[in-house]
Amino acid sequence: MRHLFISLLFLIILLVFQITAFSWSSHGVFTFLVVTSIDGFDYSKLVEISEYSYSESRNYKAGRYITHDLVQKGEKKIDREDDVLQETDIEIVPDLVLSDGKIPVWMIFLVYSSLPDNGMDFVEDNFLASLFLGETQANRHGYFKVSFFEYFEGDKSFLHFLRMSKNAFNKGDMYWGYRFLAYALHYLEDLMQPYHVRPGTVPEMLTYLFDGRMKTFLRNAHFAYDDYMTFLLYFSKHKYAFRELVKSTKPLILPVSDDQLIYEAIVYSYTSFFAIHEEIKKAFGTILSERRVRIEDFQKAEEEGKLDNLYKLTKKLVSALTSLAKGIIITTVPIPK
Ligand SMILES: [Zn+2]
Repeated sequence: MRHLFISLLFLIILLVFQITAFSWSSHGVFTFLVVTSIDGFDYSKLVEISEYSYSESRNYKAGRYITHDLVQKGEKKIDREDDVLQETDIEIVPDLVLSDGKIPVWMIFLVYSSLPDNGMDFVEDNFLASLFLGETQANRHGYFKVSFFEYFEGDKSFLHFLRMSKNAFNKGDMYWGYRFLAYALHYLEDLMQPYHVRPGTVPEMLTYLFDGRMKTFLRNAHFAYDDYMTFLLYFSKHKYAFRELVKSTKPLILPVSDDQLIYEAIVYSYTSFFAIHEEIKKAFGTILSERRVRIEDFQKAEEEGKLDNLYKLTKKLVSALTSLAKGIIITTVPIPK
C-alpha cells in the first residue's frame, strides 16, 4: 500500500511539474545585482570573447545550444534604459566595448544567466519520464525526491556547469569560465524558487488527479511566485529596499563540497515552500484558479497589506540565495595574480 501511494505521488509530481517548468523571472537582472555588489570583485574587467572548445557529457536540444556571443552578433541588446542598470555607475556602451572582441564581466552574467531557459534543455533522457512528460526542460531545472525515488536533475545541471566553469578558468579561458558560471547560477536560482522543488501540497496533488482545475491553480501559483521577483525588482513600493538587500548581502562560503552545497540549497528551498505557498494562496485566492496573477494584482495586494508576510519570507529566501551565489562566485573565479 505504501509503495503504491509513493508511486502514485511520484507520477502526480511528474505530471504537475510537466506544466510548471518555468522559473524566476529576471534571472539576468538579479544575477547582475549579485555580481556587481561583491566587495573587491572586478565586474568591469574586459574579457576576450573566445570560441567554444569543449566536449560535454550532456546532450542538448538540436540547434538550441548556442555557443557564439549573442551581444557580439547583435542578437541580444542591453537595455540601457533599464531601471536597475541605470542605478549603477557602470557605463553601458556595449557596441563600443564589443567592437574589439571584448566583453565586460557584468555583461556576461547579465546575458547568460538567463540562457538555460532558451530551450536548450528541452530533452528528456530518462525513459520513464519521457513516457509521461514528453519533451520538457522541467527535469533539468527542478528537483524532487519522493522516498527512494530521486528524480529531476536541477542539482546535476548546476554541478555540471560549475565544473565546466572551473575547467575553463583552469585553462585560462576566462570568457567561458564566466559564461559557464552564469549558467550554473541559473540552476541555483531555479532550485531556490520553492515551486521548483515542490509543486504543491500532498492533498492538492491528489486533488489534481480528479480535478483539472487544480492544474491551473498550481500552475498559476508557481507563475505568481516567479513573477513576484520581477514585481519586487521593478514595481513594488519596496523595490529600492529589495535591491539594496541583494546588494548588501554578504557572501557565504560554505565549507562543504559543491554536491553538498546544492543539496543544502534544495533543502532550504523545500522547507520554505509551505509558508510561501500559503501566503500566495492567501494573497491571490480565486485569481489562481482563473488566470495568471498580473502586476496590477500584486500592486493591489501590496497596498492592502496582503503581501507583508510574503515579502518577509521572500527577503529571507533571497538573502540565502544571494549569499550563496556570491560565495560561489568568489570561490570559483580565480584571484588575479
Ligand atoms: Zn530555468
